[in-house]
Amino acid sequence: MLKLPIYLDNNATTPIDPRVLETMIPYMTEHFGNAASRNHAFGWAAEEAVDYAREQIAALINCNPKEIIFTSGATESDNLAIKGVFEMYASKGNHIITATTEHKAVLDTCKHLEKLGGQVSYLKVNEAGLIDLQELEAAITDKTILISIMYGNNEVGVIQPIREISALAKKHRVLFMTDATQAVGKIPVDVEADGIDLLAFSAHKMYGPKGVGALYVRRKNPQVKVTAQMDGGGHERGMRSGTLNVPGIVGLGNACEIARLEMDKDMAHVSRLRDRLEAGLLNIEEAFVNGSRVHRLPHVTNISFKYVEGEGLMMGVKDLAVSSGSACTSASLEPSYVLKEIGLSDDLAHASLRFGLGRFTTDDQIDYAITHVTEVVNKLRNLSPYGKNFNKALS
Ligand SMILES: *Cc1c(COP(=O)(O)O)cnc(C)c1O
Repeated sequence: MLKLPIYLDNNATTPIDPRVLETMIPYMTEHFGNAASRNHAFGWAAEEAVDYAREQIAALINCNPKEIIFTSGATESDNLAIKGVFEMYASKGNHIITATTEHKAVLDTCKHLEKLGGQVSYLKVNEAGLIDLQELEAAITDKTILISIMYGNNEVGVIQPIREISALAKKHRVLFMTDATQAVGKIPVDVEADGIDLLAFSAHKMYGPKGVGALYVRRKNPQVKVTAQMDGGGHERGMRSGTLNVPGIVGLGNACEIARLEMDKDMAHVSRLRDRLEAGLLNIEEAFVNGSRVHRLPHVTNISFKYVEGEGLMMGVKDLAVSSGSACTSASLEPSYVLKEIGLSDDLAHASLRFGLGRFTTDDQIDYAITHVTEVVNKLRNLSPYGKNFNKALS
């Protein structure tokens, strides 16, 4: 028997892999030391564990362990990268380029900087969700200090042309930062080959614990510096003060190691199930996939169902834990800004579901999801006058 509801919201968060949890527990109990305590074995054990995690992370994204700054998650990493560069390079310029479909952690940070005298260009995306490289290059001025474009989108899964973007950044001597929260651990990410200067990610999107993440900050060619956004004991080479979350960091390190060793297997697993889910759901008339189906992450699909009403759809699919095309950023139900940016109407954005698959998703769960969504969509179309006519026209 399947356990309901079925979790298909792995873009929002993932469960901790039991193997990751195992490695964390000793660092909450017997090895509870403060990694900054230099005078005794408790501190040394904690510091050793943190250093090991740095190596595990570095191996996954191909950087030097010293280039990893631990944070509380991707939101903090995005803030530290963007605000930190803005402050550090203020004498060079005040202009930042980003895109309209970025995560709020990037967009709201940029909005904040606009209030402090920053200039921000928000690039539009096409129907596939991709930015235009010519527009990007045209937006660069002699005041541009940072390009911040995400690796893979959390709502539709679109992967931006990272290497082309970094090449343009390099050509114009602008720093390139990427929010890679949905990409790290899911697809190969290589800060050298990809030409990335700053990269943000989070443990809880890759089978690690919540409340811990990292920011990669390049140390060579060029050497990048960010102004600390948290002042205190000068941890993390002065860029992020605060006692390190040792169990969390151990978990993040282990999650990175598992992701590196099992990436091929994980990618094959989620993309096979994603394709199976899409094939099943696209049998529904007037259902279609949002965003590029070529340049995209393997674990997510976002599907719109015409002629159904969004609220009914979300309430109807109660056996599934999925996200809708409604961003519940406030009490009001706003249509997802990402779906709107790729050209969907408000109604269609609401009538969309994001399916985030993961390492622990099974074939049975996907088959159940297909049947369940199909039933719900058909029922809703029969209920509404609009949908009823549509169903009649089909028969
Ligand atoms: C989840 C997510 C974040 C925020 O990460 P937290 O660790 O929860 O702060 C930022 N960017 C993207 C693309 C995400 O998917």
